[in-house]
Amino acid sequence: MTFLEKVEELEKEAVNKFESASTLRELEELKAEYLSRKGKFSTLLRELKELSAEEKPRAGERANFLKRKLDELLQSKLSSFEKREEKAPGEFFDFTLPGRRTWEGKLHPLTQTLDRIIEIFYGMGFEVAKGPDIETNYYNFDSLNFPQDHPARDMQDTFYLADDLILRTHTSLVQVRIFEKRKPPVKILAPGRVYRHEAINARSYCLFYQVEGFYVDENVTFADLKGVLVAFAREFFGKDVELRFRASFFPFNEPSAEVDIRCIICKGKGCSVCKYRGWVEILGAGMIDTEVFKSVGYDSEKYTGYAFGLGVDRIAMLKYRIDDIRLFYENDLRFLRQF
Ligand SMILES: [Zn+2]
Repeated sequence: MTFLEKVEELEKEAVNKFESASTLRELEELKAEYLSRKGKFSTLLRELKELSAEEKPRAGERANFLKRKLDELLQSKLSSFEKREEKAPGEFFDFTLPGRRTWEGKLHPLTQTLDRIIEIFYGMGFEVAKGPDIETNYYNFDSLNFPQDHPARDMQDTFYLADDLILRTHTSLVQVRIFEKRKPPVKILAPGRVYRHEAINARSYCLFYQVEGFYVDENVTFADLKGVLVAFAREFFGKDVELRFRASFFPFNEPSAEVDIRCIICKGKGCSVCKYRGWVEILGAGMIDTEVFKSVGYDSEKYTGYAFGLGVDRIAMLKYRIDDIRLFYENDLRFLRQF
């Protein structure tokens, strides 16, 4: 192998190694291996004196060229490492480590449930309206025909704020706020947070989400209400879902019903979620009481309407098979990441 060939070979080898060095230590080792006094370059240079007088100048020039090239490469590598050091002083960055995954947020399971509920009713022609969380006694109770001595008004059930203000205990009252401003037909979905002064346990919390839906027009019947609720349940829980309407009482509905679905966890056999009854209550509903129409000036001879109130938390618990409502409000990422 001629001297020039040896230079070429050394160049190829050294450039390759310098370029792929990824740590300061590797670079120091390469510097010692190639550029120190006893390094590969100096060793090769010693062979120069054995060349003939004609060969020497060209060979010397070629060797110098390689030396400059390696010096420059070393400097540029060093300065790029220094820049990295500036970014994270004291901590050396190892490029060979695998990258970190970026964190991707998700919607809360209650928000996902609420969005799906709204989407289904929106498809059936409901528009969405919202009311304030802080309400007056009038809207929360009086306008909805709650008698003065109704137990729900009790301070043990309701959070009272200053004067006449309370945290609303349901979203049914959004009906009245809408009726005061608009004439029938009105077909509205009112989602929102409601508050109850209740003992906190696996099945009840001091706040939860409700969706109130109502429709007032000429000739609206209980059959329309049933149709809408059955359509919703089939869309949300699946075609095989079974519903049960039980007679009930709400001050603002006449007649009133509570609606259960056949427990989708145990299929009706009985489990802790359905309290071994095989059925789970998911909503209250009924035809809007004429007293409510009277208070907002609707002609109850001409118009009829239905209303229903869904418990979003209860529905989310069924859908995701969650047996403790408190999990929704603890913001524990180990829980939330599962949805
Ligand atoms: Zn069950």
